[in-house]
Amino acid sequence: MKTRKMPKVLLLKNGTVLDPLKGTSSKKDIIIENGKIKSIGKPKAPKSAEVLDCTGKVITHGFCDVHVHFREPGREDKETLATGSRAALAGGFTRVCVMPNTNPPLDSPESIRFITEKAADCPIHIHPIGAVTKGQKGMELTEMAAMVREGAVAFSDDGLPIANAAVMRRALEYASMLKKPIINHAEDLDLRDDGIMNEGEMSLKLGLDGNTFLAESMMVFRDIELARLSGAAVHIPHVSTKESVTHVAAAKKNGASVTAEVTPHHLYFNDEALVSYNTHFKVAPPLRSEADRKTLVKGITSGTIDCIATDHAPHTIEEKEATFTNAPFGMIGLESCFAAVNTILKKEKNVSLLDFIALLTVNPRKLMGFDTDLFQEGTEAELTILSPDETWVFDEDSIYSRSLNSPFTGESFIGKVNATLVRGNMTVL
Ligand SMILES: [Zn+2]
Repeated sequence: MKTRKMPKVLLLKNGTVLDPLKGTSSKKDIIIENGKIKSIGKPKAPKSAEVLDCTGKVITHGFCDVHVHFREPGREDKETLATGSRAALAGGFTRVCVMPNTNPPLDSPESIRFITEKAADCPIHIHPIGAVTKGQKGMELTEMAAMVREGAVAFSDDGLPIANAAVMRRALEYASMLKKPIINHAEDLDLRDDGIMNEGEMSLKLGLDGNTFLAESMMVFRDIELARLSGAAVHIPHVSTKESVTHVAAAKKNGASVTAEVTPHHLYFNDEALVSYNTHFKVAPPLRSEADRKTLVKGITSGTIDCIATDHAPHTIEEKEATFTNAPFGMIGLESCFAAVNTILKKEKNVSLLDFIALLTVNPRKLMGFDTDLFQEGTEAELTILSPDETWVFDEDSIYSRSLNSPFTGESFIGKVNATLVRGNMTVL
């Protein structure tokens, strides 16, 4: 992977321009001048233009991930904003939102400013999500309005649920005044108990403590009801059970302001993957049953699921080499995201790129209030170039994160990211 400054004039030639906002796909050339979209169609480029041949490739909006953990401040040995940016570029992501469960957590205006100032030097756009409660302790609300002024785009105590329903209600009321979504890690910790994998046939077989589907779906239901009461927007992260999908679908039908995301790993794997006791498959919420996984795939085609988000969660090898019970939850996911999702949707449902690309581009941007019309002339070139049919094997060389905890290592994929253009730079893989 090589990143360099874009030439003054860059011509993307002979590519298929896939516009996820307008839902169109056609052969066009694009001229980028000084890092901005100059013209799209059959424009005449000056002789001095550098040409990037995009024959057989798709050019689309740069991907946007509303859920990553870059571990800064506190665990820079796992990831930093700079190393996380490299992982993002390798995955075709031009924009990410970082979760606040750092050490210390992003629970004050000063900590939000720390991220926005550091992000200014990064090669992608990075936006902080502020903590809902001080110290992520679940009780006292943070100074949300002041944090929004410093650049917080949403609020979450991710990693931990907001267990107290009254606190969640107040948080939703404040957030709705600020027009920002609340993202609640829906997992009832009492019900989860010591559960480290999905509760079911597999947990019995493997002798590992189970985490019931209800630990998630009950809280999803609660959050939707509280959002309805306050008229606020609630975003459900990493939906993993069929019951949660049912709740979200019903709420949307009733006009509640609810959106939902699914991760590539919940779409790709089920709890049978744990038969190896490989700790890279240990994640919260856990990989669920095949029936759950199939419902998540269906949730994408039915429009119930709005976004694909990686929940990119780096951990050191030393930590992940612990026993399954003791290893931390989480896996990295930025580099493998597009290929994993494209592979599953193509193989199982023959879903076209145009039918799911909005979940990686327009929908997450809409959720966070970012610009969604990236092909407009004069807009910063924030683009991803893909080979949707290329087959390849994901290995450790495909990883640019500071951590290597990917469950996808060794997987054969269909679809590859070739280049990522953002902030005046071009990264070619
Ligand atoms: Zn979470």
